[in-house]
Amino acid sequence: MRTLNTVAVVGASLAGLRAVQTLRREGFAGDITLIGAERHLPYNRPPLSKSMLRGDDEITLPGAEELGDQWLKGRQAVRLDTSDRRLTLDDGTELGYDGLVIATGARPRRLPDHPDGVRTLRTVEDALALRAELQAGHERVVVIGGGFIGGEVASTARALGLNVTLVDASPYPMTNVLGAEAARWLARHHRDNGVELVSDTRVTGFEGNGRVTGVRLSNGSTLPADLVIAGTGVTPNTDWLEGSGLTLSDGVVCDETLFAAENVVAAGDVARWPHGLFGGELVRVEHWANANDQGALAALNLLTGPESAKPYADLPSFATHMHGARIQTAGLPHLADESRLVTGEPDENRFAIAFARNGVLVGAVAVNAPKDLIRLKRATAAADRVDAVA
Ligand SMILES: Cc1cc2nc3c(=O)[nH]c(=O)nc-3n(C[C@H](O)[C@H](O)[C@H](O)COP(=O)(O)OP(=O)(O)OC[C@H]3O[C@@H](n4cnc5c(N)ncnc54)[C@H](O)[C@@H]3O)c2cc1C
Repeated sequence: MRTLNTVAVVGASLAGLRAVQTLRREGFAGDITLIGAERHLPYNRPPLSKSMLRGDDEITLPGAEELGDQWLKGRQAVRLDTSDRRLTLDDGTELGYDGLVIATGARPRRLPDHPDGVRTLRTVEDALALRAELQAGHERVVVIGGGFIGGEVASTARALGLNVTLVDASPYPMTNVLGAEAARWLARHHRDNGVELVSDTRVTGFEGNGRVTGVRLSNGSTLPADLVIAGTGVTPNTDWLEGSGLTLSDGVVCDETLFAAENVVAAGDVARWPHGLFGGELVRVEHWANANDQGALAALNLLTGPESAKPYADLPSFATHMHGARIQTAGLPHLADESRLVTGEPDENRFAIAFARNGVLVGAVAVNAPKDLIRLKRATAAADRVDAVA
């Protein structure tokens, strides 16, 4: 281990928390300053679009209680000078560091100029406000974007008995993540569960003076709405790093060991790095397990230094429930030039699909087939040929 006396961690959520815990567990005895824009202990975001909307407030992130007092809550870093190893905070404080962990995550893309009643979902405040709206008995809920968050909110709102219309720009929601066959199944699954799906259509604006009354669509029509949830993707929180000398391109660009510059590492939703399993393709992953594991490895690599640093090459994986179906992905199916159904049938609501590029597995999708997902995930991590599994 090399000698670092002070480490600053910017971003007090999952990746930042795991970084702090790792520093302490590895015996780092110097000062750690954790800087977090939110005013809460780090909490778990996945329940925000699921159980929390149904009334369950449990969002504890184990380990958050271990954080010591060197924690600046409700404070943002606004500038980084890597040559001087100095951070500037939003109250004007300057903070020197020997090592820096960047874990500032991402924020929802905002739709411009919208009236009240158009919401996004990222924080506990967003979830509580959305829950209150869902409980207020709005009759016409429109969800924009059929990705994981849009799909989960649509599913939760249906479970609460609300009328839900889901507008998605692609012919089938999540085609880029699940591939065509599973995306076709998902479209049908939404419809079978009472969601009105408007595909291949963009939102062009909103109606309503003060409160939203409608959503204008690219096909010229207007959907009546009294509550709108926009799940149209996220933007990595890198604005504060402009001019820092770091490479910023859809995130903080790092090497395979998560170093973005000398003594600076990045982790979680904000980090983009060359993934060893996928030919060094630059990837940014917005999944819980990625933030959890990268936060720990980035901190460890910072401590050991670049010579002994380990590459981060874990396989991305994600699980969600929509209308009672368990949907899991592993690897990066969107890189594939071929897909094969290996188990079950979409019509039976139970199946698994393997994805390959040049005959080598790059990912898998499973619906209500967790054992198949485990098998395909292992085979993908081992870079097996698709012929070996299907
Ligand atoms: C509603 C919802 C549901 C989800 N469901 C799932 C799921 O089912 N499965 C799954 O795998 N993943 C899910 N995710 C994704 C998962 O929660 C994220 O991948 C994870 O939270 C990323 O952690 P992070 O620490 O990298 O970033 P974040 O959790 O985004 O945290 C970044 C923190 O940094 C703070 N920050 C930003 N800029 C600054 C600054 N300049 N100075 C100081 N602090 C700053 C932010 O306020 C925030 O607290 C979900 C996410 C959401 C929002």
